[in-house]
Amino acid sequence: MANYDYDIGILGGGAAGLTIASGAARFGARTLLIEKEKSLGGDCLHFGCVPSKTLIRTANVYHLMKNAEKYGLPRVDLKPVDYGEVSKRIRSVIGVIQEHDSKERFCKLGARVELGNAKFVDEHSVRLNGEIFSAKKWVIATGSSPSVPPIEGIDKTPYITNKELFSLKTLPKSMIAIGGGPISIEMAQAFNRLGTKVTVVELANQILVAEDKDLADYLMNILISEGITFHLASQPLGTRDLGNEKEITIKNAGGKTIRMSAETILVAVGRKANLQDLGLDAISMELDKKGLKTDDRLRTNHKHIFAAGDVTGSYQFTHAAGYEGGIVLSNAILHLPRKVDYTYLPWCTYTDPELASIGMNEKRAGAAGIHYSVWTEEFKANDRSLAEGEEAGKIKLLLNEHEKPIGIQILGPHAGELISEWVSILNGNVKLSAIASAAYPYPTLGEINKKVVGNFFSGKIFSEKVKKALKFFFNLKGRACRA
Ligand SMILES: Cc1cc2nc3c(=O)[nH]c(=O)nc-3n(C[C@H](O)[C@H](O)[C@H](O)COP(=O)(O)OP(=O)(O)OC[C@H]3O[C@@H](n4cnc5c(N)ncnc54)[C@H](O)[C@@H]3O)c2cc1C
Repeated sequence: MANYDYDIGILGGGAAGLTIASGAARFGARTLLIEKEKSLGGDCLHFGCVPSKTLIRTANVYHLMKNAEKYGLPRVDLKPVDYGEVSKRIRSVIGVIQEHDSKERFCKLGARVELGNAKFVDEHSVRLNGEIFSAKKWVIATGSSPSVPPIEGIDKTPYITNKELFSLKTLPKSMIAIGGGPISIEMAQAFNRLGTKVTVVELANQILVAEDKDLADYLMNILISEGITFHLASQPLGTRDLGNEKEITIKNAGGKTIRMSAETILVAVGRKANLQDLGLDAISMELDKKGLKTDDRLRTNHKHIFAAGDVTGSYQFTHAAGYEGGIVLSNAILHLPRKVDYTYLPWCTYTDPELASIGMNEKRAGAAGIHYSVWTEEFKANDRSLAEGEEAGKIKLLLNEHEKPIGIQILGPHAGELISEWVSILNGNVKLSAIASAAYPYPTLGEINKKVVGNFFSGKIFSEKVKKALKFFFNLKGRACRA
């Protein structure tokens, strides 16, 4: 039997790679983790979830201060935002979390961490810093990078992506965001709230294309009311560097050519898998148009080489990367065959209000030919929402023809937290009647989950048939008042 240096080697120290490295080492596997950058943590920690959510919090606090009068407080005369200070806070939050993802911590767990650019030299070995490292199993977890669309002039026009966004020296006076996906929309609202004049250009006829249009439009109208400009169904034709400003020309929904300019252009049109410089040609690795091609056990065409996280191009979220890391551990280390199942993979766009989703929405159910009914409840009918002054949004519950829940979307305050209850309900096969009959603490936003289920049952419970039966058996006397 071949003798390898390691039981498992992992390329990429982000969400997926770290999950696999810590799990493998703790199970007693001789583990090697190779990261290209100077520190572990990946995009989520350095250029993604952590800085974006930190920035969003800062922007939301500033927004609340600007709107103090809405809460019965005196008006606050605010100074403009010093983005240098905002970036400092972002760096300090990253710094604290970085400690959990340090080389030393992984060494304590039993995993060796090496930094540098590794290249496959054969199916079991990589070359790193002039040395060959072999492993019985490998995992490619090298993540993704921002895609840049082929717009004329973009190569000669300075633009930024999520890589530069959080370390800007000053707050841009104006920004055109190309793309209407989650990253762009979250950042559009945050920068707009901090004081940047933001315009969003999106190719589709709605923002957040994975979401139902009614909820995406509801959110977009809130963002418009805050001052953001949207150009939907609009195609960027070209960009130009004007010096202090950058110009973009678009063909808008009506077919008109429009020119506009801003201090900064943010490119946020999607992600491409990090597959370059890995020597994948040398081992004839099969790719598809999203990234590394895998089977449902996350094995590539070489059954001992796995892939996890953004590099597969499937669901590009940190929790998906973590979930896939668990699947790889099960298959590669525990030898317990386990397949990925994304049926109940939740996600959330962290705008204010947040938009969270799990399972089927109307778009996905319609495309799958599933017959469904929709039950809704508005946040403006939730007492806690009113008390908080956050009454925008609603919850949508989709039931299939057997009246089983198949998906939930929540647009509202803390939707990302509220959807977590549905993660348990759907994965645990909890009966809707159990939710309807349970007591929820009052006043909480979470009551909306019970309320929407109640809306489904109320038509059945308070029916004419039930009333008639109660009248017959218990002689109930009926209405006491007629309006
Ligand atoms: C602005 C922004 C906000 C986001 N917000 C959220 C959010 O709120 N919630 C959420 O769930 N997701 C969010 N995401 C997505 C999330 O960041 C990714 O899905 C997640 O980081 C994927 O983890 P990963 O391990 O696949 O890749 P990464 O975390 O990117 O890790 C890949 C690692 O591989 C390294 N690497 C690359 N090439 C090589 C090589 N050749 N050799 C060795 N190492 C290499 C990279 O340096 C990196 O450290 C956001 C993304 C962005 C850009």
